[in-house]
Amino acid sequence: MSDSTSNTHLLVYPFPGSSGHIIPLIDLTHLLLRRGLTVTVIISSDDLPLLEPLLNSYPSSLHKLLLSDPQISPSTHPLIGKVISTQKQFEPIVQWFKSHPSPPVAIISDFFLGWTSELASLLGIRHVVFSPSGVLGYSILHTLWRNIVEINAKNGDKDENYLLSYPEIPSSPTFPWHQVPQMARDYKKGNNDFEDFRKWLLANMTSWGVIYNTYDELEGVYIDYMKKQMGHDRIWAVGPLLPYIDGPIASTTRGGSSVMAPDKLFMWLDKKHDDSVVYICFGSQVTLSEKQMSALTCALELSDVNFILCVKASGSSSIPSGFEDRVAGRGFIIKGWAPQLAVLRHRAVGSFVTHCGWNSTLEGVAAGVMMLTWPSFADQFADAKLLVDQLGVGKRVCEGGPESVPDPAELARLLDESLCADIPERVRVKKLSQAATKAVKHGTSAQDMDMFVKLISEI
Ligand code: UDP
Repeated sequence: MSDSTSNTHLLVYPFPGSSGHIIPLIDLTHLLLRRGLTVTVIISSDDLPLLEPLLNSYPSSLHKLLLSDPQISPSTHPLIGKVISTQKQFEPIVQWFKSHPSPPVAIISDFFLGWTSELASLLGIRHVVFSPSGVLGYSILHTLWRNIVEINAKNGDKDENYLLSYPEIPSSPTFPWHQVPQMARDYKKGNNDFEDFRKWLLANMTSWGVIYNTYDELEGVYIDYMKKQMGHDRIWAVGPLLPYIDGPIASTTRGGSSVMAPDKLFMWLDKKHDDSVVYICFGSQVTLSEKQMSALTCALELSDVNFILCVKASGSSSIPSGFEDRVAGRGFIIKGWAPQLAVLRHRAVGSFVTHCGWNSTLEGVAAGVMMLTWPSFADQFADAKLLVDQLGVGKRVCEGGPESVPDPAELARLLDESLCADIPERVRVKKLSQAATKAVKHGTSAQDMDMFVKLISEI
């Protein structure tokens, strides 16, 4: 720890109530603490358990600013309403800042909290955006909201996907972003919350800097693109953000405690050969429809693979009766929160059926497993595109909302094939996995992190 970093105090503001947004920002906080900075994290009492392990490890340099969750108006779009409601924290944060003996020199906030750019300028501190999405996903989101008025004017009420030919993004990715038409129509209805959401999302582009949870070998072309878009170099790619000690560790408690005793699962995995198990999980938000679950379980029965299937305890779809008995010995079912990171990093796991949330995408690639993509909303399509078409480390198994159902026989074939030793996707993903380890140990991500800490400590 140098003298300059030990005096540097940062404010970190994750987007509340969403594991996929909070987990990586807590891991970033850990890296800042390891470099000797002092950090205050703005957190709600519901999300506090995610921060507690780190609070216990850094009692003198990590602090929490507990804010109560503001009421969300029931009339607005759920996500937009939640984003807008966070603005009610503006005044309480100003008051906290003014009464602090050594207030922070900068705020690092989730990209949904773009209003904090105005807060930062009022307080006279730097504003840094944290993107829980990859750079490709982020630039598509940004392009959409920057051009939404024009997109609407061109396309009227047509339901087709107007963005297909739109974004001026390198490699011009095409993707069916199913939410877009609905959002565009809601925006047209003149809802003020949508206009605020748009304004604050775009304000992120004028921030002092942006931190991405990605790395050069994965998204170098998009990182360069964003530097051009923003007109400066204060774009830092510091990922993959994972729990570290002196390298990534296979944490069993990342994002929550496992619903079952990890020992039982790992004893089962230990008995399997290398790369002989498919891990299937759809993140913290997505639940399969009844039809999708039925096709998936049917495919698993038709296939020969060993598998771990993770299903939400509160999900609308259920495992068909008798399924567990029919796959006994080769199938392990987890009903609730799985220790995903540790599972992916186990030598027996060879492929991953994923909804392509950005954290799962990075965790799978960093663990070197073949990716079987099944995106259903938001940036998940962009992530699947990156994995399959641009990096060549995965294959598509399905995509789209609850009505998109894979053919069980074809899915069974893809599951079997995904465990073959010599498929090119596996060879490529192992290389990207090695590149990830190198990037965070002493490569580009470690250098970007050092550069960020140096610049922010000089203020
Ligand atoms: N996760 C987990 N166990 C589960 C489900 C999810 O550990 O049963 C973790 C996963 O490892 C990842 C995060 O929760 O770190 C999910 O983030 P992601 O961006 O993949 O998807 P989201 O949940 O935001 O859709």
